[in-house]
Amino acid sequence: GLRGNKTWSPAWRQPEPKPHYDVVIVGGGGHGLATAYYLAKEFGITNVAVLEKGYIGSGNVGRNTTIIRSNYLLQGNNPFYELSMKLWEGLEQDFNFNAMVSQRGVLNLFHSDAQRDAYTRRGNAMRLHGVDADLLDKAAVQKMLPFLDYNNARFPIQGGLLQKRGGTVRHDAVAWGYARGADMRGVDIIQNCEVTGIRRENGKVTGVETTKGFIGCGKLGLAAAGNSSRVAEMAGLKLPIESHVLQAFVSEGLKPFINGVVTFGAGHFYVSQSDKGGLVFGGDIDGYNSYAQRGNLATVEHVAEAGKAMIPSLSRVRVLRSWGGIMDMSMDGSPIIDRTHLDNLYLNAGWCYGGFKATPASGFCFAHLLARGTPQETATAFRLDRFARGFMLDEKGQGAQPN
Ligand code: FAD
Repeated sequence: GLRGNKTWSPAWRQPEPKPHYDVVIVGGGGHGLATAYYLAKEFGITNVAVLEKGYIGSGNVGRNTTIIRSNYLLQGNNPFYELSMKLWEGLEQDFNFNAMVSQRGVLNLFHSDAQRDAYTRRGNAMRLHGVDADLLDKAAVQKMLPFLDYNNARFPIQGGLLQKRGGTVRHDAVAWGYARGADMRGVDIIQNCEVTGIRRENGKVTGVETTKGFIGCGKLGLAAAGNSSRVAEMAGLKLPIESHVLQAFVSEGLKPFINGVVTFGAGHFYVSQSDKGGLVFGGDIDGYNSYAQRGNLATVEHVAEAGKAMIPSLSRVRVLRSWGGIMDMSMDGSPIIDRTHLDNLYLNAGWCYGGFKATPASGFCFAHLLARGTPQETATAFRLDRFARGFMLDEKGQGAQPN
């Protein structure tokens, strides 16, 4: 430490691309890196490259509000998110890196009888899937979070659905941990390498055009999150996805007062407190389609209003910074992990504003699909053609809240 970082060796290499790989993954976000890690570690496929147009962690994996949970209702979603939760629980030991996995609880507030019934149903579905869920009444919430506005006539807090095993994880450390684990097993992580075209011959992908030249591949996996439509278009695919901005905010540091994650059920607002003391919060997506990584002031105002309705004392807190990320919004709120019309082209997309919590399971299931050609058992519903067949998984971001 006293010698600065001069003697430190980089946590992953900076290799030049080889002419050909067994598997190429487009996108060095959480999902692309996790896929490469599990391909190498669980399926023994190590001749793999992850191509990232910027630096790893520059996309949503380093921009999200770090919430993890598995409080889903539908059969097609719940087992997958619970697999992810179980992988989170062992992740730091597995990839030997501190990702600050903190299971401090996620509480969704409800404000009406109808919402209470919906949350009760969700909690029951979770329990039937073996996932922890507790329904709290107003007194229990008040004991936990005395500073919420319980006198608000418009949005009376009646209680909340708590998942104690939910919580937060340091997002960029997840990218670093997976990158390091993949790299040490032989995966090439190639940064500043934008994919600009997908070369095809006789119904198969032969490789990708990039800013570092042509790279051939046996299989191509797309994990470009907010840019999924743009990348898929290079292979003639039109995705049922729109890209929107989601903003997030961090306040000045305050003494610890919010232990877990709390979501407002009567509008779009959620908040947690980082170990440094800053409140980390956000709301809904900006309404218009965009590939810009910044949002507009109307949404900032909406988030501030909803936050104040839930915690009146927020009006005195100063915001330090805000930012935005591009969300790959699928039409039913659920993701896609599937093969495509091209024999060796595979797609991982449609994570909306909730893909961080899915990172370990998404990587594991995508690696399973790439390695074995069949979906992993918890990811069988994430089919690309479900919109055409009418088999939608209509579960938008959970309850009234994103993330
Ligand atoms: P990314 O990190 O975006 O990875 C995709 C990568 O592909 C990028 O690095 C990009 O540069 C690269 N790429 C794109 N095009 C190309 C190309 N042509 N060539 C090469 N590389 C390319 N989810 C939760 O579960 N909990 C939360 O609390 C939460 N909060 C959020 C808050 C905000 C403000 C935002 C923006 C998102 C939030 N999310 C949350 C959603 C979550 O972050 C995303 O769903 C998830 O990170 C997407 O997967 P990823 O990590 O692989 O994406």
